[in-house]
Amino acid sequence: MKADVPLLEVNGLKKHFPIHGGLFGRETGRVYAVDGVTFSIQRGETLSLVGESGCGKSTVGRAILRLFRLTDGEVYLDGERIDTMRAGRLRAMRKRVQVVFQDPFSSLNPRMRVRDILAEPLINFGMASGRRDLTARVGALMDKVRLPREAINRFPHEFSGGQRQRIGIARALAPGADLIICDEAVSALDVSVKAQIINLLADLQDELGLALLFISHDLATVEHLTHRVAVMYLGKIVELADRRSLFARPHHPYTRALLSAVPVPDPTAKRQRIILTGDVPSPINPPSGCRFHTRCAYAFDRCRAQEPVLRLIADMHLSACHLDEAPEEQVVPLTV
Ligand code: SF4
Repeated sequence: MKADVPLLEVNGLKKHFPIHGGLFGRETGRVYAVDGVTFSIQRGETLSLVGESGCGKSTVGRAILRLFRLTDGEVYLDGERIDTMRAGRLRAMRKRVQVVFQDPFSSLNPRMRVRDILAEPLINFGMASGRRDLTARVGALMDKVRLPREAINRFPHEFSGGQRQRIGIARALAPGADLIICDEAVSALDVSVKAQIINLLADLQDELGLALLFISHDLATVEHLTHRVAVMYLGKIVELADRRSLFARPHHPYTRALLSAVPVPDPTAKRQRIILTGDVPSPINPPSGCRFHTRCAYAFDRCRAQEPVLRLIADMHLSACHLDEAPEEQVVPLTV
């Protein structure tokens, strides 16, 4: 562990998926799923990647896990570049970066008992010295996620959705991960179960110093868990700020629209709802200039021609919008 570097650093990550067609299966186009994403995560920190379905947030998670090759960019874990790492060294990296998926039922082998599901990573990564130690470690993992030890002989279908997600978290903890990627990990759960899993993740973070990359389509879900938020739109980060700043002073028109849909706890308080019209454009042919201009009520000429860059607009608060630089007379709200 190197104290002076972030645990995870992602620089200019791009992932374009080729589209093959025609008689000879030639490349006929590309899906620009992620198109130049940069962020870092410190030890013990939660960064949330938020955006509508299809914005590329899950692709970022999968790229960090090395589930495919990057088109461009670099990924560092503890200062060591992992996107080009050879297979032999990759094993040590896999032990440190684990994932919890949205649907625990499909990610848990239905024919395995929980004790075997949890024992598998412990055995694969050489974490247990003998049978007794293995049993003790499986029991300790059950304690960590607050499931009864006697449930280790059950199969996944004998648990509720929330309990299955606890098993998924225990499996991610088994190899002693430093970073857990939670890919829509609570999206399929009821409100009260969702809150319990979020509280569990927060407690585990405090106890173990875990870093979390929390991928979600819903800003409300991340509000009480996250330290910082990165908002993604069509393959790019459009705003990145610490939680307090982002929720109190959202800057980018897209973030403001997402936030306007988050329920306010005080029933007397009013928040003007901004309805986003139209669908997210296709990542095969993203709009020119600012990718959000086809849905932005503030778009002006420059937005269609020039891509805004992510720039510092307040302390630790970045946003990619021309409104920051535009003279007021140029800014004519449009109806879209
Ligand atoms: Fe809207 Fe223009 Fe800002 Fe993009 S750059 S968010 S289109 S105002």
